[in-house]
Amino acid sequence: MEAAGQTLQAPLACPHCRQVERVQHVPAIYRNGLGVYHGTSSAAGVAGGHVAYGYAVHGGVTISGLSSALSPAPAPRKAGWLLGASLFFIPPLALMVRIALNMTRHGSPSAVTAAQKGGYAFGTWLMPVFFLLPVVLFLGAFVRRVRRNTAVLRGQPAAIALWNQGWYCDRCGGAFFPVGTPAPVPTGQLLHLGAFRHVVWSAGGYAHVS
Ligand SMILES: [Zn+2]
Repeated sequence: MEAAGQTLQAPLACPHCRQVERVQHVPAIYRNGLGVYHGTSSAAGVAGGHVAYGYAVHGGVTISGLSSALSPAPAPRKAGWLLGASLFFIPPLALMVRIALNMTRHGSPSAVTAAQKGGYAFGTWLMPVFFLLPVVLFLGAFVRRVRRNTAVLRGQPAAIALWNQGWYCDRCGGAFFPVGTPAPVPTGQLLHLGAFRHVVWSAGGYAHVS
């Protein structure tokens, strides 16, 4: 019986230290590290020669380093402001295009040679191009960010399904998938948190996402 006791290892024992006491479900550890806070802060300072008193209410979500390392997915990135920034440059762009069209229609009063006319046209359209650049750049960044968020959202169910089978050993500071986990993942070996996260994020198809 003693031999059987040695070989029969509890399935949820840490593959490294072989103990079960400090092993906890990854989702539980993750939730423990999340906190919601509400607070107020006040500060007195000098602004414009007057003593100013500031008062602010703030709130948000805190996340512990461990929770962050065990997160099943990267946080969504704010994209709206990029679209806003892009749209911000549309009115001046439209104005510059209108001016350039007007100038092109009338032509330069002093341009005589083809080179002079070409230079005039180039100068005329320099400003519209100058305002077109931020529109294109911000819009491109917006599209990339939306695509990234969509990819993360789409892959999350698969990643979370796998993440739900992960266990964390507090003694060793690593995570593992127990032997017999029905997924093509390394089982029965302690993974450092980066490797664990890579396995989970890979299941969601967003391991390359930051
Ligand atoms: Zn351990």
